[in-house]
Amino acid sequence: MAAPMAAPRNLAGPRDYRGTAASPGRAVGPAWTVRERSAATVASPAGQTEERHALEAAVAQAADELRALSERSDADSAAILDLQIEMLLDDEMLAPVLARIAQGDSAALAWAGALDAYIDSFGDSPEDIFAVRSADLSDLKNRVLDALAGRGRTDFPEGAIYVGKDMPPSLFLAHDWSKGGGVALSSGSAIGHVSMLARARGVPMVIGLGPVAVEPGETILVDGAEGLARINPAGPAAEPATRSVPQRPAEPTDGAGAAHGAAVGLSVNINALSDLDLFDPAEVEGVGLARTEFLLPSPAEVLNEERHHDCYRRIIERLGGRPVTLRMLDLGGDKALPGLVAGGTGSFLGERGIRLLLARPELARLQARALMRVAAYGPVNVLLPMVTLPDELAAMRLLFEEEAARLDRLGMPHRMPPLGIMVEVPAVALTLDLFAEAAFFSVGTNDLMQYLSAAARDDTAAAHLTTGSETALFRLLDQACAAARALGKPISVCGDLAGDPHLARRLVEAGFRQLSVAPMRLGAVRAALLSRGPHIDAASA
Ligand code: PEP
Ligand code: MG
Repeated sequence: MAAPMAAPRNLAGPRDYRGTAASPGRAVGPAWTVRERSAATVASPAGQTEERHALEAAVAQAADELRALSERSDADSAAILDLQIEMLLDDEMLAPVLARIAQGDSAALAWAGALDAYIDSFGDSPEDIFAVRSADLSDLKNRVLDALAGRGRTDFPEGAIYVGKDMPPSLFLAHDWSKGGGVALSSGSAIGHVSMLARARGVPMVIGLGPVAVEPGETILVDGAEGLARINPAGPAAEPATRSVPQRPAEPTDGAGAAHGAAVGLSVNINALSDLDLFDPAEVEGVGLARTEFLLPSPAEVLNEERHHDCYRRIIERLGGRPVTLRMLDLGGDKALPGLVAGGTGSFLGERGIRLLLARPELARLQARALMRVAAYGPVNVLLPMVTLPDELAAMRLLFEEEAARLDRLGMPHRMPPLGIMVEVPAVALTLDLFAEAAFFSVGTNDLMQYLSAAARDDTAAAHLTTGSETALFRLLDQACAAARALGKPISVCGDLAGDPHLARRLVEAGFRQLSVAPMRLGAVRAALLSRGPHIDAASA
């Protein structure tokens, strides 16, 4: 919720705050300050009463929106909208939702589940009236889910500098950065998800500034390379923000990677569909990691199988036959989904990634169906996040098989994709030999480093411990790489470390032959792998 921060005593003249560089570039704009939400606001829903109230408020909000729309519409459209309002407020429709909440579901899950069941009950009826009713219900479903997530009310003006303690990735993703702007955080971490997103989009960002005394609207400069935030910058530094939309990086023509048969395959990580415009598919091996939790950043999208399907299909089509690795939802930790997944620091070690998917199988089933359906269009691999034990892989495979049988019954074309696992929990990195059932491995160095060093990736104060644990990390990687080879399974690295030219060379030296990096990092990594140096000669690797 946006709100003025406490007024600083002396606002005259420039004031500097020093922090840590998280994403390079310079941006100038009016400060947009954020009052921190208390832990209670974002904590896991307390109980059925709160969930019921949340649902009632969201339904009321959706009804208000429809009423406002109806008032602005012509008579025919208004009649349709009024019917929707009637449906929305119908006690009969709400009864199964309330029953699900009484059984322990969150408001979002209960609403989506009950509406899906209602829509499904129309089956494949050829009668138009049922098709129309299904479309109305889908609209209502998404409207209420959006209201539950508070979507649309948390964005901030284009070109502004976001100033706050931390920033939820979903807010970063929902914002339009094409008019510039930047991020200045009092806390945060350079290996946190929002920093990673900022680097991938070319949005200047500084973290670890401590409390920043700034009035809303005061001009603020963010220098993401220097780790500096300056309030009221003077002189040329105060020039308006330059456009920070990432441009496609220049590629060396003789690239290390796919198209030229060199030894190291370079793929890209995708966080948004717009990332697809940042690289030439002919210059990469494929998509090594699509973070689906970022591609579908609201409950309305995550709970809609068709949105999954359409989104994945666009990636597959753009890659034109190159392999696409779609990772199942890695929700939890700092990747919350308001109204659906509370997340929070505690869940970094708790219900996150595959643990959450197996605990909420309806979410996993929906995504599994969409993944198997799009696998019919091209080479799709499915990657499972945060796996710890072989049992989890087996349980997810079973779930896929059950959903495949369901798609069979429905006569929907589909294909069972290879299922691989993220190597981001130290227990897995040490026991790859136990995961012979995995089709491939992908190392998530961001999480592997945080869990290895017991230093949270969203904690500025612990950042030096994470980076200081590189020796431990590389010892573990040596072992994991050898174990994957012994199993004859492909292993790649998709964590941010692979996007650092120097460390990419060390990875190749450690035996990795597949790296996946943000599109913006392709040029630098490719150049580093091609250059001769103390670590590696990419051409002979
Ligand atoms: C990782 O942990 O390195 C990774 C690629 O996953 P994410 O950054 O999305 O947690
Ligand atoms: Mg991870």
